[in-house]
Amino acid sequence: MTTLSRRDFVVAGLAVPVAASLTSFSNMPDADAAAPLAGPQVPGWYRYKVGDIELTVITDGTSRFRFADTHVANKTREEVNTGLAAAFYPPDMMATPYNPVVVNTGAKLVAIDPGVGEAAYASSKGATGQFQTNLKAAGFDRGQIDIVLISHFHGDHINGILGADGKLAFPNAEVMVPTAEWTYFMDDGEMSRAPAGRMQDVFKNARRVFDAIGRKVTPYEAGKDVTPGIAAVATPGHSAGHNSHIVSSGKDAIYIQADVTHVPYLFARNPGWHAFYDQDAALAEATRRKVYDMLAAERMPVQGFHYPFPSLAHVERTPAGYREIAMPWNTAL
Ligand SMILES: [Zn+2]
Repeated sequence: MTTLSRRDFVVAGLAVPVAASLTSFSNMPDADAAAPLAGPQVPGWYRYKVGDIELTVITDGTSRFRFADTHVANKTREEVNTGLAAAFYPPDMMATPYNPVVVNTGAKLVAIDPGVGEAAYASSKGATGQFQTNLKAAGFDRGQIDIVLISHFHGDHINGILGADGKLAFPNAEVMVPTAEWTYFMDDGEMSRAPAGRMQDVFKNARRVFDAIGRKVTPYEAGKDVTPGIAAVATPGHSAGHNSHIVSSGKDAIYIQADVTHVPYLFARNPGWHAFYDQDAALAEATRRKVYDMLAAERMPVQGFHYPFPSLAHVERTPAGYREIAMPWNTAL
């Protein structure tokens, strides 16, 4: 008997049922006409409920790029590639999904972290900047948004405050920002002391976005309700005043983590890995472990801005850290 390769074995195993199924359909009309390829992806939104509150996750797209050797400050490229391989991702490439959430509390329609901005749609050739088109596909008009709620001031979370015309993208919305983030990033003294390069750029970009709306924002405090049904939690480290949000109704709650972890298959599974985006890496790790210990103990689901769409999971503890278990797609509300 000849030795079959793994591929030969798989192909040989599939050959019989495929041939049989073709035969059984061969006398149907047009059976041999080639169907045209269907083309673009469906609009990306996913809806679920927490008690009486309705949430709609709206994808803003995914950026893919070859990552730098310093992408994870305390790990080598080889170690990062091992983590990617464990999650069935190709080596040397980082895929960063952006997933804003629209929360209908019953009283307010709240858009949390509106993504990289409409202007990015053209510059990324459609890969990102999809929030506004997907918002519309999900049945919302941008004029309906009452509150734009911001977790922190990195560009992928605030640039979507502005439309492609550089003006407020949500004409009737109040923009709410964490007090700690506003105090730090809008302070010119802090800006003058920040390292050149990326940190300076974060300060400058925050001024670009907030100056365009006349710095008209409403700061909110951690540890309190931003609006009934949505509470703010201080989760510092990733940025100075980073906040997460808990949406709750009755006995149900979900933790909207923003960037407590970046992609979970690297940074939840390895909570000690320090992505270069984390402003204070040690504090970010301490926050990450504290939040994920709580999520695992409470069995509370998490909505992660940089989780793969629809970015909704439970987490459990593992010997190395945590593991995310994607929640099953719910086909009816
Ligand atoms: Zn982010």
